[in-house]
Amino acid sequence: MSIEIKNINKSFGSFEALSNINLTIKHGELAALLGPSGSGKTTLLRIIAGLESPDSGEIIFHDEMANTSKIKNGEVGFVFQHYALFRHMNIFENVAFGLKVRKRNIRPSKAEIEEKVHSLLKLVQLDNFQYRYPSELSGGQRQRVALARALAIEPKFLLLDEPFGALDAKVRKELRNWVRRLHDEIHITSVFVTHDQEEALEVSDTVVILRSGKIEQIGSPDEVYNKPKSPFVFNFLGDVNLFHGRIHEGKAVIGNVDVESPDHAALENSAAVAYVRPYDVEILRSKDQGIAAEIQYIHSTGRNVRVELKRKDTGTLIESVLEQENYKALNLLPGETVYLRIKKATVYVDDDFSI
Ligand code: ADP
Ligand code: MG
Repeated sequence: MSIEIKNINKSFGSFEALSNINLTIKHGELAALLGPSGSGKTTLLRIIAGLESPDSGEIIFHDEMANTSKIKNGEVGFVFQHYALFRHMNIFENVAFGLKVRKRNIRPSKAEIEEKVHSLLKLVQLDNFQYRYPSELSGGQRQRVALARALAIEPKFLLLDEPFGALDAKVRKELRNWVRRLHDEIHITSVFVTHDQEEALEVSDTVVILRSGKIEQIGSPDEVYNKPKSPFVFNFLGDVNLFHGRIHEGKAVIGNVDVESPDHAALENSAAVAYVRPYDVEILRSKDQGIAAEIQYIHSTGRNVRVELKRKDTGTLIESVLEQENYKALNLLPGETVYLRIKKATVYVDDDFSI
């Protein structure tokens, strides 16, 4: 089942929650809708599910033969952030629920339901938990039951709205890897909503970045991360340092260093900003080709070391992340002056900020 989203618009009163959304989610794909809170992710998901109707535009479902098909009640699997399981039912009964409430003529037999529930509990690695009650499970286990319950009805597609939002960081990480593996096994077309960029980048095949009800960029995790189309996307996908400068002969000139910027060669003398991830700021001891900066703080975060620096020329604060080995070799101390080299940057000019 592929999902074609065509020209969707949706307002609440005078507030435009979604404008001109166009997007196709391919058969078997796991797409992440990523954006800050209030950007329209849940609204779009609810429109896909048919729980909300758009003001204009349409959602078209195509089956594997590329025929359009209607989605009937009970063909969508849903998992929400707080998908409360039925407290008075054990895990088996929770997962079986959607099948047991079917009309008699389409309800599977008792034996079939039992087999289905067991295979699903096995899939979510909870096969020994069928007689437990939700209160006897951890948060992560409960979300896995919620997933098994959503899958029990053999939905045409699966919609997940911040399914791990309420869980702590470690469990979130485990579950996100687990969802990826599950998806690789069952290949059900899925749309996954999250405001967590790391989650979106790690789990999905395609990332759709929403900003104030509009699509800002669509691409593979690699594309959106390494070729962010706008300063917004760059910023949203991770920590960033901004280095202000001007374009000169196809380079952005920042203080006493240059950053290649061939795309902007025609914009001689335009104001430019180089966006640089902290691990692309290299700290050097020698002053050749480096921006002088004073070390303010050094935080060791286990595998990496985060160094806060203050540029000598502009007073701007810069963050650099380096590996422990490199840090030890440099033997850095707060108060010292070092030199910064920009290993990799994305340069934006004024026009890029008005997209
Ligand atoms: P997200 O899931 O990205 O956080 P939502 O889709 O829930 O965002 O909401 C997008 C915007 O639309 C928000 O500003 C929200 O307040 C508004 N909104 C959502 N649902 C309604 C509603 N039923 N009535 C009025 N405003 C709504
Ligand atoms: Mg939401």
